[in-house]
Amino acid sequence: MIRAPKDGAYSGAAMMRRKLVAGNWKMHGSRTANEPLIDAILASPYLDQVTCVVCPPFVYLAEVARLLRDSAVRLGAQDVCAEGHGAYTGEVAAAMLHDVGCRYVIVGHSERRNIYGEDDVLVARKFAAALAHQLTPILCLGELLAEREAGQCQEVIGRQLDAVVSLTGIGAFAGAVVAYEPVWAIGTGRTASPEQAQEVHQFIRERLARQDAKIADALPILYGGSVKTGNARELFAQRDVDGGLIGGASLKAEEFLSIVAAARG
Ligand code: PEP
Repeated sequence: MIRAPKDGAYSGAAMMRRKLVAGNWKMHGSRTANEPLIDAILASPYLDQVTCVVCPPFVYLAEVARLLRDSAVRLGAQDVCAEGHGAYTGEVAAAMLHDVGCRYVIVGHSERRNIYGEDDVLVARKFAAALAHQLTPILCLGELLAEREAGQCQEVIGRQLDAVVSLTGIGAFAGAVVAYEPVWAIGTGRTASPEQAQEVHQFIRERLARQDAKIADALPILYGGSVKTGNARELFAQRDVDGGLIGGASLKAEEFLSIVAAARG
C-alpha cells in the first residue's frame, strides 16, 4: 500500500491543475491513417500548456511511439493485464507497455466493464499493475443511464472508486488520473451538462479528500462523453474538470486540436 501524509480536512481550495486531454482511439486507426493524425497533433502550438496523450490500439503502440519521437505528446494504451507476465494468451502486461514507450494506460473504460464484463476488483488490480510499472492509470468511472435515472449515480461512482482505494490505498492516487465518463454520454452525441459534470467531479474529489486532501486536490479528473469543439470550453471551465478523455473526436485532427486549444483556457 502506498502511503501519503494526511493533511487534515478538505478545504475545497482549488489548486492550479494542468489540463490534460487524452485521445482514446478505441479500435480505430491504420498505419496509413496514424501518421498524418500524429503529425497534425505534433503541430499543436499548445503542447507546452496542455498535457496531451494519445491511446492507439496495442498493435500500433510501437509505431506511434516512433512517430511521437521525443515530443511532449505522451503515449497511452487502452487496457492492461492485471497479471505481471505468464500464460495469459492475448493479454498485454504493464511492463510491455512501458517497454514500448507508454506512460499512461486507460483502465476500467465502460466498454471493458460492460462489453467484456470487467468488475470493480479486476479494474482495481489493473490500476495497481499499471502503477507498479511506472504507468499512470487513467481510471474510468461512470454510471449507466438507468442508474442515473434511478438516482444511483453517486452510489455507483463511489463503489467503483472505493474498490480501487481499498486495494491500493489513497497514496496511489498521487500518480493517477481519474476520468468521469457517464456511459449514456459515450459515443452517443449526448453530453453531460457542465453542471452535471462538475457535480460528479466534485463528488469524486471530496470523497478522496476525506482520506487525503492534498492528493485529492492535485488529482486530475477528466470528463469523457461526446466532448467536441462546441462543448469542450464550457466543460473544461468547470472548477473540478481538468480536461477530457476524448473518443470519436480524437480521430479527427482538426477536432482534437481544437479540443486541446479549448483546454488551454
Ligand atoms: C470514450 O470512449 O472514452 C469517449 C469519451 O468516447 P466519445 O468521446 O466518442 O463519447
